[in-house]
Amino acid sequence: MGLKVLIVDDDDIAGGLSRDLLKDAGMDAELITNSLKAIDTLREMRPDMAVLDILMPGIDGLSLCHKIKTDPELRFIKVVMVSGKSFEADKQRARQYGADLFIEKPYNIESFASQIAEVGGRKDKTAETPAAPASVPQMKSGADAALQIAIYGARGIPGQKTPTSSAYGLKTSCVTIDAGDRKFIFDAGTGIVQLGAELALSGAKEIFLFLTHFHPDHTRGLGEFQPLHTAGCSIHISAGKEPDRPLQDLVTEALEATLPAGASVEAEIQLHELFEQVYEVCPGVNLTSFYANHPGTTLGFVVQANDRKVVFCPDSELYGEGATALQDYDDRLARIAQGADLIIHDGRYTAEDYRTIKNSGHSSFVSAVHMAGKAGAKRLLIFHMDSQYPDDVLDRMGVEAARVAAERGYKLEVALAREGLKIGV
Ligand SMILES: [Zn+2]
Repeated sequence: MGLKVLIVDDDDIAGGLSRDLLKDAGMDAELITNSLKAIDTLREMRPDMAVLDILMPGIDGLSLCHKIKTDPELRFIKVVMVSGKSFEADKQRARQYGADLFIEKPYNIESFASQIAEVGGRKDKTAETPAAPASVPQMKSGADAALQIAIYGARGIPGQKTPTSSAYGLKTSCVTIDAGDRKFIFDAGTGIVQLGAELALSGAKEIFLFLTHFHPDHTRGLGEFQPLHTAGCSIHISAGKEPDRPLQDLVTEALEATLPAGASVEAEIQLHELFEQVYEVCPGVNLTSFYANHPGTTLGFVVQANDRKVVFCPDSELYGEGATALQDYDDRLARIAQGADLIIHDGRYTAEDYRTIKNSGHSSFVSAVHMAGKAGAKRLLIFHMDSQYPDDVLDRMGVEAARVAAERGYKLEVALAREGLKIGV
């Protein structure tokens, strides 16, 4: 039996021509002109291939391609994009969304059917590549680790549609990096409360806390951080130097907003204002702070010790493959992160949602994969996932991230961050 093909094209003349050419070549081809019915039709028909026009009312071909390639049941359908637009950005996006072939209109009547047949006959690359997982990717700890990383909170601020529970956790930004015998804490989101309880139990007397910025999801746990209420404890808080406000004001404000009623600060607090530069935070451990693309003064950090390198950049908008010539942040960050053993980076949105929420200071997880891939990083933990995403959406993001990395040939292990995760590099 010939290949089964569904053509989705709002133009019934062009679509009809495609259908007739494929039928003449012995394929079982059908045409629908209403793109909104495409997903339902694909589920019923289960074709080998879908031929999608890019510009269509209802749902455009690229979104449709993305939907197909991220749907566990439909993603094995080969997708051919056809378009009268031949912009390189559209072709790139089609590839990014997993399209198997891009054909420009008007197409060559002689070769159209054979091009389609060739893609249809091609064995599924993603099904064969061992690096492309069918299950949600997880990250394991390295045995000879020089740096130990632990995730205490990985999400953005809760919203109206936040689920009541999640295997990824719902606490906001807090990560620790242990280097030698010293623990460095990054961000004081709600995840820091649990960490504070552990530190109090262990009797820690000197605490090093680095804040990327003062948005509430990064400071909300500060007032309930137990060492803060422990006399004899010394807490170093470091954050970026604001042009117009001393760090003292920002910390006081964050404490006022988060201290439980009746609680007081008993620890000694020392403040350090950071610039974009390298600091030797203890012998053999360097910390580099750099400005991230996010509203206000927001830092990202690089921790380096024993030839290992970890990047923490939780709030950061990458422009992705649609970047203009002036938007060179992705490249700048890839240079900073060059060769990192682990990058923990903002991947708040699905690629679909990002297209409608650009310029909010957060990234699509797909852009994070490309940045980490270009940086030649070994591992990427996608971080600061939108708190309103339920676990099935996050699971799909993880699978899709690993698929993108494998398809592009990045030697990158990728997973979503989750509370309780510990990794050594
Ligand atoms: Zn923020």
